[in-house]
Amino acid sequence: MRVSQLFTKTSKSAPADEVSQNAQLLIRAGFIHKEMAGVYDYLPLGKAVLNNIIQIIREEIDGIGGSEISLTALQQKDAWEASGRWSDDVIDVWFKTKLASGSELGLAPTHEEPLTNLMKNFIHSYKDLPAYPYQFQIKFRNELRSKSGLMRGREFWMKDLYSFSRNQAQHDAFYEKITDVYLHIYDRLGLGSSTYKTFASGGSFAKYSHEFQTVSPVGEDTIYVHEGKKLAINEEVFNDDVLADLGIDRSELVEKKAVEVGNIFTLGTKFSDALDLNFTDEDGTSKKVFMGSYGIGPSRLMGLIAEHFADEKGLVWPVNVAPAKVYLVRIGNEAAVAHADELYEELQAKGITVLYDDRDVRPGEKFADAELIGVPYRVTVSDRLIESGEYEYTERVNGETKLLTREQLLAKLS
Ligand code: ATP
Ligand code: MG
Repeated sequence: MRVSQLFTKTSKSAPADEVSQNAQLLIRAGFIHKEMAGVYDYLPLGKAVLNNIIQIIREEIDGIGGSEISLTALQQKDAWEASGRWSDDVIDVWFKTKLASGSELGLAPTHEEPLTNLMKNFIHSYKDLPAYPYQFQIKFRNELRSKSGLMRGREFWMKDLYSFSRNQAQHDAFYEKITDVYLHIYDRLGLGSSTYKTFASGGSFAKYSHEFQTVSPVGEDTIYVHEGKKLAINEEVFNDDVLADLGIDRSELVEKKAVEVGNIFTLGTKFSDALDLNFTDEDGTSKKVFMGSYGIGPSRLMGLIAEHFADEKGLVWPVNVAPAKVYLVRIGNEAAVAHADELYEELQAKGITVLYDDRDVRPGEKFADAELIGVPYRVTVSDRLIESGEYEYTERVNGETKLLTREQLLAKLS
């Protein structure tokens, strides 16, 4: 991508009403645009980061048999009345709209009801189970407090996966697997060392659900971390009974603020009861399908990663999610242009993503933008280095700068 072709521009300030650090930085660096409280547009750099996060999640979920789908956001009342969740007293974040005909539609805050209904068309026998449909979809929730930028949107991206199993044993096996997969996802996103599998309240079919919580000073949740066991307990279930269950002494735990970046939940037959999703088991009897739901918030993750790694100069993206791997700065005229153009082509041919600052602006402006945008590696081609055949190479994470030969540079970036 050439910076000259990027229609977005960086700016020195963010909207005055934006209080969250992640949104301030992402707006200033041109990744997102703010429409209203808790509602943001993704611009080219922001969409690139979101796509990278989504792709990592997709690869991992596909790896354990997920089947990607895309459901409509528009919700008819019936299915939600059947489960008792149409009421604003039960789901207090509904966005609903009245049509000219007088009927009402809702904008999906989650998708258990329509998907359970849909699966009735396909699940009849034990042979049709298990099934693991999932999607990346925009959810709508009229959150009361949307002051955390991308971390609490009123419109946000969710990865929601649902499991349909024959019995609890089949469910439990998948639940174990997904726990490992989630931890692997947070590793790949650069959050592994600060993210904990966290015991939370379970509902009617399991003693616990599990959240994945990333320790952060801006977190809205309080958790109690056991570093040795690499797990945590959410304050909502923190009591002597849980400590005994987990064989943990209170003195081994440290209280921390954290951001919920995902959760997994045993639904049991709550929705298959309400919406009548049955199958015929091997012995010929009719049974309810046993369900689970598994969420991750790609847009919350984007905001969290932005905020978690940022420094006083701007964003600092982990390589796996960065909008490009290299920020190529060109300083000088003809010779530098030819040289930088050629390097840009070669890096791209090698599959290395490059944001090429080909603008005719002061070097200081290019460097400041490179720092604000937070691409991991900056490479500078300048007049003054062409003769020696060297390149200036800087790592965003520590600011270290080195002069490298072309061979060294390509070895570093490959
Ligand atoms: P929270 O307690 O933070 O409101 P939740 O329990 O309502 O989260 P779920 O309904 O389980 O969350 O949604 C699945 C995932 O979607 C969450 O783990 C989180 O990562 C993400 N998520 C939930 N609400 C939002 C939001 N308003 N903005 C961005 N991401 C969200
Ligand atoms: Mg919520």
